[in-house]
Amino acid sequence: MELWTVIYEGTAAPQAINGGTGTLLGGGNQIYSGGECIMVRTIKCECEERMEVKIDSYSLFQEVKVFFEREVAKGIYQDVLVEMPYYVGCSTIKIEKIPWYATKWYKCNDCGCLWEFNYPEFPAQGFVRKFVNGEYRPQ
Ligand SMILES: [Zn+2]
Repeated sequence: MELWTVIYEGTAAPQAINGGTGTLLGGGNQIYSGGECIMVRTIKCECEERMEVKIDSYSLFQEVKVFFEREVAKGIYQDVLVEMPYYVGCSTIKIEKIPWYATKWYKCNDCGCLWEFNYPEFPAQGFVRKFVNGEYRPQ
């Protein structure tokens, strides 16, 4: 078995290393061996342990926001485009449909889970919803 050295943990931009004889691919943990870098999976996501929550306090909001941003920084989650509204309401003034979009969607690179995160606007609560295998459903 070869010994590998993890030279970088987290998300990096592609870059040349070792005096230009090697390259980093960017976007995840990397190991370096003989002029080649290989992406490795050394860290696992926390999707299974994390639960859907109602965001009913500012401190909880901060905790959850920091969690998602940290996972993105580690390259485990991806900040993706919010493609679908979680709710479509009807305006009573004009007859029209009003889609409500969450603030953020995060996709897990590890298990494929999709997380929907709607920031609170107190007194309106926020929420976090979880879609195992990335299969989205409206509320
Ligand atoms: Zn995951």
